[in-house]
Amino acid sequence: MRDTELYQHLLGVVAPWTVSKVELSVQDGRVDVWVEHPRGTRFVCPECEQELSVYDHSEERAWRHLDSCAFLTFLHAHPPRVDCPAHGVRQVQLPWAETHSRFTVLFERLAIDVLTECDVAATARLLRISWDEAWHLMDRAVARGLAAKPLTVPAHVGVDEKAAGKGQDYITVVSDLDAGTVEFVADERRQASLDSYFEKFTDEQLAQIQAVAMDMWEPFAASVRAHLSDADNKIVFDRYHLMGYLTKAVDTVRKQENKALSAAGDKSLAGSKYLWLYSAENLPERHQDRFAALRAGDLKTARAWAIKESLRHFWSYKRRGWGAKHFKRWYFWATHCRLKPIIEAAKTLKRHEAGLLSYFAHRITNAGAEGLNSRIQAIRVSARGYRNREHFKTAIYFHLGGLQLYPTSL
Ligand SMILES: [Zn+2]
Repeated sequence: MRDTELYQHLLGVVAPWTVSKVELSVQDGRVDVWVEHPRGTRFVCPECEQELSVYDHSEERAWRHLDSCAFLTFLHAHPPRVDCPAHGVRQVQLPWAETHSRFTVLFERLAIDVLTECDVAATARLLRISWDEAWHLMDRAVARGLAAKPLTVPAHVGVDEKAAGKGQDYITVVSDLDAGTVEFVADERRQASLDSYFEKFTDEQLAQIQAVAMDMWEPFAASVRAHLSDADNKIVFDRYHLMGYLTKAVDTVRKQENKALSAAGDKSLAGSKYLWLYSAENLPERHQDRFAALRAGDLKTARAWAIKESLRHFWSYKRRGWGAKHFKRWYFWATHCRLKPIIEAAKTLKRHEAGLLSYFAHRITNAGAEGLNSRIQAIRVSARGYRNREHFKTAIYFHLGGLQLYPTSL
C-alpha cells in the first residue's frame, strides 16, 4: 500500500478528495498530508446548495489533524471556490473542517473531550497547542452550542451572583433548577444583568416561569418584577443565602464576644470560629465535646447559634401556615435576644417575609443547585491567575451549559 493510499484510509478522506502527497519529517516530528480533487469536480454553493463548476482555488491552507503515532499531523489543501449566480464567489464547505477553523473536525472533537476532563493549560500541553488556541477551541465549542440551543424557558429559575475576579467584579448566573444547567451568564449583578436574560423571551414564554430562587438582592427582585406577572408570589428567597446571613451574624457575635472575653483574660472562645459555622449534624466528631461545653455555657455566641439553628426548621414544614407560625415565633425570639447582629438579620428577613413564605408554594432552592455552585467555584479556581471574565464565562457555559459542543459536519 502506498503512503498516500494509507493516509487516505487513516484520515477517512472521501471522494471527490484524495491524498496526493505525504511528507514525513522525523526531525520535526510531523507528517504533512496534501489532499486534492480531480479536475472537473463540481461543488455546491454553501448558501443555496446549487451545484456549480469550480471558479478558482484559494491559497493553500493547513489544518491541524489528529496525531499519527505521536507525530503532529497537518492536512493541506487549496479550498475551491464557486461563483454562484445568487451568492457570488464563495468558498465551498470542506468535509474535514468547519469554516474558519484551523483544526479538522476530528481534532476539535478530541480537544473538546480533553477540555472536558482537564483545565485549559493541561489541554494545551497534552495536545501541543498554544494556550490561546485551547481557549479558541473552547470559545468555538461554546458558540456552536449556544447557537444550537433551543430557546426553552425553565419552570424553576435560579439566579445567583458569583465573584468573577478580584474585588467587586461579579457575574450573574441564571440556572435551570430542574435540569441543573447554567442557562445564561451576564456581566455584573445589576438589574440590567438579569433583564438581559428575560429579554430573550416573549411574554408568553416568560409566563411559563413558575418561580425564581434568589438572594435578597434588590436589583434581581426588581428585574423579576419588571418581567414576570405576579412576581411577588414567584420570588423565593433562597434558603442557602438566608442561612448565610444568619451564619454571618453568629460570627459577628462571636468576634465581639471573644474580644470582650479576651480583654478579661478569658480564652474560652479563642479558636472556635469554625465550630459555630457548622450546622449541628455536620460538626466533626472530634470537636463535639468542646462544642457541647461551649453551648452549655452562658455565652452570647451560643445563644446566637441556637437562634440560627432554629430558623433551619422553617424549611422542614409541610404547610405554609405552620411555616408562617414558626417564623413568627422565631422572629419574636430573635428580636428579643439583645444581640444586635442577630436582631438586624432577623429584621432583614422580616422585610422579605413574602419571599420566604413563597417557598411553600414552590419548594425550590439554589441549594438544590449546590452541585452547580461548587462546580462554578472549581472552574473559577482552575482559571485563577488569568483574571479574565470572558474566559470564566466561557468555561461556565462549556462545563455547565448542557450544550451540544461537538462540530456536527463531517
Ligand atoms: Zn448560492
